[in-house]
Amino acid sequence: MPVATRGALKLLDASDLDWLRPEVLLANTYHLMLRPGAQLIEEMGGIHRFSGWEGPYLSDSGGYQVFSLSPQVDAEGASFKSVYDGSLLRLTPASAVEAQERIGADIAMCLDVCSALPAERGSLEADMERTLVWAGRCQAAHRRGDQALFGVVQGGTDLGLRARCAKQLVEMGFDGYGIGGLSVGESRPEMLSALAATLEVLPEDQPRYLMGVGDPLSLVEAISMGVDMFDCVLPTRLARHGVALSWEGRLRLRAARFARQAEPIEADCSCVVCARYSRAYLRHLLCVGEPTGGRLLSLHNLWWTGALVRSARAAIVEGSLAGLVGRVRRAWGSAEA
Ligand SMILES: [Zn+2]
Repeated sequence: MPVATRGALKLLDASDLDWLRPEVLLANTYHLMLRPGAQLIEEMGGIHRFSGWEGPYLSDSGGYQVFSLSPQVDAEGASFKSVYDGSLLRLTPASAVEAQERIGADIAMCLDVCSALPAERGSLEADMERTLVWAGRCQAAHRRGDQALFGVVQGGTDLGLRARCAKQLVEMGFDGYGIGGLSVGESRPEMLSALAATLEVLPEDQPRYLMGVGDPLSLVEAISMGVDMFDCVLPTRLARHGVALSWEGRLRLRAARFARQAEPIEADCSCVVCARYSRAYLRHLLCVGEPTGGRLLSLHNLWWTGALVRSARAAIVEGSLAGLVGRVRRAWGSAEA
């Protein structure tokens, strides 16, 4: 899922989505509830009509952003200051669900408590227990029959807590399951163990969504473990910093070595950018600060990431996923992204 933070992929619009065809687009509830407001989006017909894109949307709960603002958290919710005007606001399980119902995405997420890592087991457990209580409140508050609701597994890097949280959420019964609180500073082996402990419990026949992870190696490794959904700002954020994703790894296109390269970012990439523009031209746009440079790289990076996931799906069917994971590992080395 590409991330349309404020209801748009940065530098792109819905006509780009017509050919990018992401299976789902993520919109951030935190940003949309502050500007323009969930009620306004509802009045304008919901996020699909408002943004001009009729494909599937997932909204997050707003929790991840709120928890990154060091909010005052109590048993009922979190109080925080708006980044826009400093006003004091409150997010509770019920208000997170209400905002998401008004925004009207196809998939809504339960409000969870994301533990900052590293953390003591006691604090991980308290956050996980609160996540479970809040999941129950979100489920009770959720009214829209045309909107799926996903639970979110927490528990940090503690395998027992991960398994317990996943088991209880499955007993409560959600339409799908997010795996939150990973890739937030823990080591790679710790992340993969926590992921494995979670996936062991979550049902294979329901969507399993690894939240906020999207570097190429993590994508294919997690897919090979059984993850179905991802979101990440990486493709568009790197693009705006002049970095193209490729089978050579990251290409920092501002580098002087690209100045006279007539070939596209990647010869066998089937995106509109690689069909038309040279590395030399893209480098020029980036070096002189033309916004089109970041826009074209965003298009390529999103297409490239989507193509990687489609390759993984084909490889699963052909039984050759291990080969693909090896190829990505050789190209991308450590998952540093
Ligand atoms: Zn391309």
